[in-house]
Amino acid sequence: MKQIDAIVLGLGGMGASALAAIAGRGIDVLGIDQEPAAHARGSSHGGSRIIRRAYFEHPDYVPLLEAAFEGWRRLERTTDSTCFQRTGVLLVGASRSPIIEASRSSAETHGVPVELLGSDQMRIRFPQFASDRGWSGLFEPDAGIVDPEAGIRAHLEAARRAGASIRRPLKVLSVDGDDREAVVRTDQGALRTNRLVVAAGAWTASLLGDRLRVPLVPHRKAMVWFEPVDARSCSSAEMPAWLIDEGDAGGCYYGVPTWPGQPSPAGVKIGWHGSGTVVDPDASHEVGSEVIERFTADLEDRLPGVFKRPVAAQACLYTMSPDEHFVIDRLPGRGSMIVVAGFSGHGYKFAPVVGEIAADLAIDGATGRPAAFLGLNRFEADRPG
Ligand SMILES: Cc1cc2nc3c(=O)[nH]c(=O)nc-3n(C[C@H](O)[C@H](O)[C@H](O)COP(=O)(O)OP(=O)(O)OC[C@H]3O[C@@H](n4cnc5c(N)ncnc54)[C@H](O)[C@@H]3O)c2cc1C
Repeated sequence: MKQIDAIVLGLGGMGASALAAIAGRGIDVLGIDQEPAAHARGSSHGGSRIIRRAYFEHPDYVPLLEAAFEGWRRLERTTDSTCFQRTGVLLVGASRSPIIEASRSSAETHGVPVELLGSDQMRIRFPQFASDRGWSGLFEPDAGIVDPEAGIRAHLEAARRAGASIRRPLKVLSVDGDDREAVVRTDQGALRTNRLVVAAGAWTASLLGDRLRVPLVPHRKAMVWFEPVDARSCSSAEMPAWLIDEGDAGGCYYGVPTWPGQPSPAGVKIGWHGSGTVVDPDASHEVGSEVIERFTADLEDRLPGVFKRPVAAQACLYTMSPDEHFVIDRLPGRGSMIVVAGFSGHGYKFAPVVGEIAADLAIDGATGRPAAFLGLNRFEADRPG
């Protein structure tokens, strides 16, 4: 069995980036995926992902976000691709919205330029949103969206140019390893490697089992595209990407405006960021008509008269960690295996920097980037002795 320096298992958003980063450092690396490139069965499809720096999830992400923004610019330059669109991002909510407060605090701590908007300013600047709600806003002008399929294609192109090999479709049946090496069993035979990066998205828990020591749970989520009544007021010229803090409902509606060069489907993309339906990632995923009806009614309430009708829908998978923060680490007692998973519905924007961290962990055994807060040892206190 030939020994390969490094293998990246999973070539979605994170694995494609890790493959490019590892190959870029002159390492002999093989990328494996069970599906063709930029497929729609995992977590990295649907044409857009919101990217912002004023991070309500935790201020410690902001230095990583600065690196991610720089990574997207570098990737676009080196592969002559377009991944990022500056649309601005608007957070909308009640005057004491925890999401707006936490974003403002992150922005203050890290010097991120944002504008706080009272309800009068909201009505004038963003008349698409219901004026009778008394909503406040936090607008981040330099934020926007990244195109996940374009990002994957660009990372794979960068990886190939740097000498990476790719095998797909190739299904991994099991993985194991110790501190020295890992074995990857596939439906076409076994492979040995010095370093294995497991970037298997919603399939990570089933591949790693107890070795991960923390549950990562796949949830099905819906993306629904709506045709606007007035095309211009829903284009990136007049509408930023947005999230509405839904308070006690425990999540946010979000929307992505139309933009020049938008891949199909056309229309404004709407989703719900919060928990979804727990699923088996191997099942086939459809968006139920009841979800589309609920989105339609809720949108009419929050952005009255803005949308004509839903025109397309796709399912997509979140991989939820217990605290909704990422899991990026070497596996305890199995130092040849690195896991990058549990992105809990907010990971794609970080793909360039996650790839670099995975490369650091695979090649040097540690990273100098401020990512210790995403390590597995944060769950140790919860483990029964
Ligand atoms: C609807 C939706 C909206 C989102 N919105 C945002 C957003 O606005 N901003 C943001 O930053 N993030 C967002 N996210 C989250 C983000 O998209 C994910 O965190 C990210 O795409 C995860 O990438 P991944 O590489 O971990 O998973 P994936 O892209 O799913 O990649 C995993 C890959 O591993 C492969 N694989 C798995 N098992 C095997 C096996 N046994 N053998 C071979 N190959 C295997 C799969 O085929 C797949 O290609 C959103 C996610 C969804 C679903």
